[in-house]
Amino acid sequence: MITAEELQQVSIFECLDGPERQRLAQKAADVRLAPGDWLIREGETASFFVILEGRLALSKDILGRVQDFAEYEYKAGDFFGETPILLGTPALVSLRATTPCRVARFDRQQFQALLRDSEKCSAMIMQAMNERLMRVQKFAATTPSSRVLIVGSQYDIDCRDIRTFLSMNRIPYEWLDRDNEFDRIPSCMPANLVGPAVVVDRAFWVEQPPTVRKVAEALGLRTRPTKQHYDVVVVGGGPAGLAAAVYGASEGLCVLLVERNAAGGQAGTSSRIENYLGFPNGISGDELSERAVRQAGQFGAEMVLTREVENIQKVSLPDGGGGYCVEMDGGDRVTSKTVILATGVDWRRLEANGVDRLIGRGVLYGAAKTESPTVIGKDVFIVGGGNSAGQAAMFFSSYARSVTVIVRGAGLNLSMSQYLIGQIAGKKNITIEPFTQVVSVNGEDHLESICTSTNGETPRTRKADALFVLIGADASTDWLPKDLQRDERGYICTGRDVSDLPGWTGKRVPFLLETNLPGFFCAGDVRHDSIKRVSSGVGEGSMAIAFVHQYLALESAAARVH
Ligand SMILES: Cc1cc2nc3c(=O)[nH]c(=O)nc-3n(C[C@H](O)[C@H](O)[C@H](O)COP(=O)(O)OP(=O)(O)OC[C@H]3O[C@@H](n4cnc5c(N)ncnc54)[C@H](O)[C@@H]3O)c2cc1C
Repeated sequence: MITAEELQQVSIFECLDGPERQRLAQKAADVRLAPGDWLIREGETASFFVILEGRLALSKDILGRVQDFAEYEYKAGDFFGETPILLGTPALVSLRATTPCRVARFDRQQFQALLRDSEKCSAMIMQAMNERLMRVQKFAATTPSSRVLIVGSQYDIDCRDIRTFLSMNRIPYEWLDRDNEFDRIPSCMPANLVGPAVVVDRAFWVEQPPTVRKVAEALGLRTRPTKQHYDVVVVGGGPAGLAAAVYGASEGLCVLLVERNAAGGQAGTSSRIENYLGFPNGISGDELSERAVRQAGQFGAEMVLTREVENIQKVSLPDGGGGYCVEMDGGDRVTSKTVILATGVDWRRLEANGVDRLIGRGVLYGAAKTESPTVIGKDVFIVGGGNSAGQAAMFFSSYARSVTVIVRGAGLNLSMSQYLIGQIAGKKNITIEPFTQVVSVNGEDHLESICTSTNGETPRTRKADALFVLIGADASTDWLPKDLQRDERGYICTGRDVSDLPGWTGKRVPFLLETNLPGFFCAGDVRHDSIKRVSSGVGEGSMAIAFVHQYLALESAAARVH
């Protein structure tokens, strides 16, 4: 417990009288830290801290990398936290003990009472805040605005994949269109370079041709597992997989998450998720996934990106128990006691002439936010009448000259949420075309026009700069073990659905999210009869971990008996 006498030793409290210090001491939390412990992490709710003993180091996440600032060490007598409290923001930096520390922590109300009741304290705090804001000014002037520079052309598919990957990982980048911005191309770039080029941290070019994986490696993101064996391998880094990683690692399991692209899944492409609990103003999919990735990392989950799981096989583990061998593209293999499949769904293909030839060249599946610069002032078409099409229409309407939503059925009422229909109705540049189908898409090296037919009438051709296809999605599960039970559309059966079928060989009833292969669980959109929402994916991913625990407990009990 902190005493009034201890507070008297700190210069900021010298000006208070005895009873004031006594009142304050009674309300302070006595925080003790060992070297390496965090006092506060960037993004957490701010408090006001006064350091009584020891030293703390300051660090900050800059463009996805944590940077230490040795010059701003905090020591006994210093205080910290007034700036985020007064600006109404979460903590702007992280503080970590470098020696054993003792810190008095005051919550927001106690801090505000201190400002109100003591003019001298208030003046000292305001002066410190001023000095810190001056530092922010210097910091802003010297910090680069991006880590990656991409030089490519609008219709370059690799370039688009890299941009989407960076955007989904929230890594700021600058994009130069080599066709229109010759003057901004760095002079050090070889003149004869063909295709897109990527430079990282203004320091080096990524080996040609740049791929998403090479860029990820250049940025220091993990693309290979570090261990040979895990308690659980999670396949897929959408909401369901990320939730499994967070809960698994937080509950002490050794977790590997493998994601073929960037974490976030379908949700990562959503410009605004408005129905996720706790975010009354909505949250963009990439922000939600970035938070989840950080959370999973803080709990110690290992995440490898840009790696596709291509094969999963049942194996016997060295301890005599059963498990799985998980093989990634490129041949890396790990073993695991359990697997959680959270691979979601893939966009359904549009059946119209010319589509496959122009994919990535004006015709796109999904509606990544990274496309916004390419549609400014253009005429954009969206195929689909569901919520994802509605969100895309709303998002692109702020950039494009016109957005036309092509719907095969009578309109949006049957397939889109009412809140989106209302928002779309308020946008002058969005048109809905019911009973319409895309017959063909046309263009030499990129999309120039589309041909549509309404009510089965003679098709008409219209100029189109971009066509976003959002007509639903299917499960891609052909690559999984043959004996894994699926429904007629390829979705994976779990729980009651498998215990009623002959494929279940276990002596017990399968867990709710367990497939017919014991210890092989499934969560999220890829599961038969799942509710295709972010919140249900998150719920299932976390529930799957509870079942993993129960499964592991049964296995170790069985091993003891033998
Ligand atoms: C544009 C859009 C807007 C949406 N808006 C909302 C909304 O507002 N509210 C809402 O509740 N829901 C919304 N949804 C639905 C929601 O995003 C999904 O229900 C949710 O993302 C499903 O989560 P998941 O983890 O099961 O699968 P996904 O999000 O599909 O994630 C699966 C992940 O697995 C990876 N993967 C697949 N196969 C492999 C493999 N073999 N190896 C490694 N990785 C693999 C994929 O790359 C992907 O990242 C929206 C969907 C879209 C497309």
